[in-house]
This record gives sequence, structure tokens and C-alpha cells, in this order.
Amino acid sequence: MNLCRQTGAAPRTGAGGVLALALLLAVPLPCRAAPQDAPAASVPLPPPVPPERPQELTPPPAPGEAIKAAPTPPERPAELKPETRADTKPEAKPEAPAPAAEPVKPEAAQPTPLPPARPPELSGEAALALKVAPPDDTACRTRLKRLGATFEPLPAIANGQCGAPLPLKLTALDGIALPQSATLTCAAAEALTRWATEVQVAAERELKQPLRSIAIGTSYECRGQNHDVEAKLSEHAFANGIDVMSFGVEGRAPIMVAAKAAGSEEGRFIDAVRGRACAFFRTVLGPGSNAAHADHLHLDERERNAGHRLCQ
Ligand SMILES: [Zn+2]
Repeated sequence: MNLCRQTGAAPRTGAGGVLALALLLAVPLPCRAAPQDAPAASVPLPPPVPPERPQELTPPPAPGEAIKAAPTPPERPAELKPETRADTKPEAKPEAPAPAAEPVKPEAAQPTPLPPARPPELSGEAALALKVAPPDDTACRTRLKRLGATFEPLPAIANGQCGAPLPLKLTALDGIALPQSATLTCAAAEALTRWATEVQVAAERELKQPLRSIAIGTSYECRGQNHDVEAKLSEHAFANGIDVMSFGVEGRAPIMVAAKAAGSEEGRFIDAVRGRACAFFRTVLGPGSNAAHADHLHLDERERNAGHRLCQ
């Protein structure tokens, strides 16, 4: 008898199907019947049928099918995809930085940007000390000595708005006499010394004679430009300007700074030294610039915006 096995092996038959089969065979219901109703001796109980294996314990499919059957991760929700979020839900990303969106803010709503804070070392008393302290021109004086100039330090000049913290008394250049000494800043003295070497070259080239001296007119003088009391202070007022009146050349009368005949020896010499002065001084004025400079070359180191020079 394997009624119970068939019944157990075919659970889909259902209780009604088993009952009908039992009635058809006219035998007591072997498995479904209550144990006390069944005659224990006449109908032996079949061995229990193991429960059907759960679905998750079934052996894995063949390797060929594993890839197809492998579970895939759930699709990312649409609202978490960046492109979808940007396109469909712009209002749902309040934290999005969106740098391109900043310029569209109304300008009126933007606070005026403040200038960068001044470095602490340049503010307050430190800035005042920086302004008052004289510049360190030790390196300049070393160069001036190496260029062969003869000079001595002078006490600071302070005369109202005029003055110079570290003036020098320049008495001679390298092999070139200065009959009138000059009171100058070291920067102006260095420029004059370097320019004088080019004057020497021009004298040898144009006049065939060595340069012996340079006559200085005014150096330091507390006055306005062009001696105008209403004008801005001249660089002479800061020992930063010098007037050159004439050149002493071996075997010649002094060559005065003045308008010369075009093409003459002295004319070429004056033109050459005047043009070279523009390489050493920020301001060069002379005959033809204006009436005040008809008889000398004015040379100074006035600083201008963006390093502009005045070379006339
Ligand atoms: Zn001058």
C-alpha cells in the first residue's frame, strides 16, 4: 500500500481528492484519518514524507544560467540620478552650489565687496614708522664707491616740505672733476656717476678729447618747479635733481649746454649726452624743452605712475 505516499507526493490533489479516492477504494483513509480511528495493527503507517524543499534551498541553476538568473541591484530611483534631478526637480536641491547661478543674482542685492584688509605690518604706528624711517641706501653707497665717485654723507635736510633724510655731498666722479660739489640723494648721485661714463665716451667719439669736468649748477634747493613759488616742489627740493651747465673737455673752452648748430661737433656731443641721460634719469629737460631750461640740462629721479619718464 502506498496510498499515503501517493497522497503525500501529490499534495495538489487536495483533501477532497484524497477523500474521493478513499471512498472509491472502500478503505479507511490511511493518512488523514485520526490515529485513534485507525486500526494500528491492520494498517501500518507509511514513513513520513519529508516536507517539500523550500524554494530558497533548491540547488543553484547550471553555471550557464547563473549569469542570467543572478539578481540585479534595484534600479536607482529616478530622483537620485544627478541628471534627472537637475532636469526634472530643480527645486528639490536647495543645497546645490550651482556656481553659474550666482551671477544672475541682482547686483543691487550683492553687498559691495570690501578691499582686502591692509596687512597689519603696514597699518597704524608701523606704517608711520615706515614712512618716517629713512630708506636704507647702504647698497647704493657701496655701488657709488665702486664706481669711483668721491662723496661724504651729510646730515639730514629738513626744511618745511623740502628735505632729504640721507643726502650726500658729491665732490668728484671717476677721473672727472666736479668744480661745484653737489648735494644729492644717493640714487641721483649714482645716476649722475653712471651717466658721466657715457659722457666720457661721447667726448672721445665726437670731440676726440677726454672729458675733464662737469659744471653743476643747482643740486639741492628748496623751491618750486622752474622757480615758481606757486608750482609743485621741484625735485631739487628733495636733493633728487641736478642741473648740468657745461662740460670741460681737454684742450677746449667749456662746452656750454645750449642750442648748438645742427651737425656741429659740439651739437652732436650735446645731443648724444642728452639722449643718454634718459637711460639714467627719469626726467631730462634742456634747451628747447622750455625757456627755463635753455642753458642747462635738468636731470632728476622723480617717480611717476607706471614708471613713466619725461625725456625731452
Ligand atoms: Zn633743475
